Amino acid sequence: MTVQPIRLFGDPVLRTPADLVVDFDKELRNLVRDLVETMQDEGGAGLAAPQLGVGLRVFTFDIDEVVGHIVNPVLSFPDEEEQDGPEGCLSIPGIYVDTKRRQNVVASGFNEHGDPIQLVGTGLMARCVQHETDHLDGVLFLDRLDSAARKDAMKQIRAAEWYDEAKPPTVKENPHSRGIFGLGR
Ligand SMILES: [Zn+2]
Repeated sequence: MTVQPIRLFGDPVLRTPADLVVDFDKELRNLVRDLVETMQDEGGAGLAAPQLGVGLRVFTFDIDEVVGHIVNPVLSFPDEEEQDGPEGCLSIPGIYVDTKRRQNVVASGFNEHGDPIQLVGTGLMARCVQHETDHLDGVLFLDRLDSAARKDAMKQIRAAEWYDEAKPPTVKENPHSRGIFGLGR
């Protein structure tokens, strides 16, 4: 077994942008295996390398029996359609909040051998791809909520038994919505 402990909200690694993968080597393939096994052990829909404490741009997914991974993903959106629905995170256990995402996404990247791949996602898969790619940028789904929903989620997090007061949380300010979300008040 190569199931690894998952880093929880408050751990600075979750707020650190991950580096591009340069070496498509055995180490990378071991990382992908650890991600898949840990994700499946936890019953998660996706898992990004920073959640295992590894600052590399890789994530795995398990949506409707489709299990896979992508390295160095770059997202594009074919249309403007949005979706809204519950979203959670293995690093923020037990907390689910409706989160707006794009309905359709195309992720371009590489497989663990360095071959170019493209992942076309809609609905849940699209949500997963956006959530996991956010992890690679140090962004959590909490950052996508409006300020009232975020405050409510933070209250639930502070009350959660796994939450460690010694590691204070950081909520990132979205530079594009400054003044709308009114963070820092
Ligand atoms: Zn997550």
